[in-house]
Amino acid sequence: MKSKIWLSSPHMGGGEMKYIQQAFDENWISPLGPNVNGFEADLENFLSEGVHVAALMSGTSAIHIALMLLKVVPGDDVICQSLTFSASANPILYMGANPVFIDSEKDTWNLCPIALEEAIEEGIKNGKKPKAIIAVSIYGMPYKIEEIRAISNKYEIPIIEDSAEALGSTYKNRKCGTFGDLSILSFNGNKIITSSGGGALVVKNRKYKDKAVFLSTQAKDEAPHYQHSELGYNYRLSNVCAGIGRGQMEVLEDRIAQRRANNEFYKNIFKDIDAVTVFSEPNEDYFSNFWLTNIIIDPSAGSATRETLRLKLLEEGIESRPLWKPLHLQPIFKSAKFFGNGVCEKLFNNGLCLPSGSNLTTEEKDRIAKCIRSCFEK
Ligand SMILES: *Cc1c(COP(=O)(O)O)cnc(C)c1O
Repeated sequence: MKSKIWLSSPHMGGGEMKYIQQAFDENWISPLGPNVNGFEADLENFLSEGVHVAALMSGTSAIHIALMLLKVVPGDDVICQSLTFSASANPILYMGANPVFIDSEKDTWNLCPIALEEAIEEGIKNGKKPKAIIAVSIYGMPYKIEEIRAISNKYEIPIIEDSAEALGSTYKNRKCGTFGDLSILSFNGNKIITSSGGGALVVKNRKYKDKAVFLSTQAKDEAPHYQHSELGYNYRLSNVCAGIGRGQMEVLEDRIAQRRANNEFYKNIFKDIDAVTVFSEPNEDYFSNFWLTNIIIDPSAGSATRETLRLKLLEEGIESRPLWKPLHLQPIFKSAKFFGNGVCEKLFNNGLCLPSGSNLTTEEKDRIAKCIRSCFEK
């Protein structure tokens, strides 16, 4: 039996255990401690630009807290791109707010500036300006940072940057995770680095960080007894998990290089296959961590389709996945508004995510290449 090849599996660096051991030695088995502080400091140093980081138990909880900090209330509209994981938008529903979904543009697959502005104009016309824009850097590709910022400034609507998939990506040499008014990261098991489960909220001032920590540790007021005047959440990252995160930060640069090497590997396989386009950076302003490498298969080429390739890979024990199904097509979000003209739906119909783990071996890559080539033989 050949071993299974996963889309993106955890890849430990070796340094994680020393931080976990330290947590056990010092009995910091809790959602606070030296690893939590250390992990936050590591992330602040990596992102630079004077940001403050609050380590939380997931990227999803970080988005939830971000919406609270922006004072979203039930009935508000919050904009989100449609081509993303459901976790980008679920916290909008947690708040009792309404998601408004936006199509992708073709260069980065992220928020289409034209559809975004249409949605905001229509909201304003109806007396309801959206409260926030959730902008995602999907698969590690930075969104159109300058265009989206200009729209945010023009209408004075803050950006929540969802860089769950984009740690290590840059735009004009500035790091993803620093572009939002509030930004979030994820360290789930499938992400470029993992703390087994975890996330972070990245903010520009200390007050926001303190408030995020307050809300994520049950909103305890200052008093000798338990006193609460706001609704709290139990969202802080465990000190044990933070230890894994610290170990992973030591190898982040290697992981970025390895994922980018995967992207080169696939570009090489597909360079002579006309029906396939490998998703690539639009120009040199963009640097993607290529968390996942994705392809679009032209259905009119008469070769393999997204589905025949996926099934052939599966037969060989190789996991691949269709792109994120657009959220405006999901049953759970069926009553939400959508602005656009079908770009993300077309991407979904013809796009496939290929195995992109930083731990893929040469032998595994050979298996993948052989299987793909067999699908496109004339
Ligand atoms: C993974 C992911 C999240 C959620 O992060 P968790 O840590 O899994 O809660 C949010 N947005 C996107 C785009 C993601 O890929």
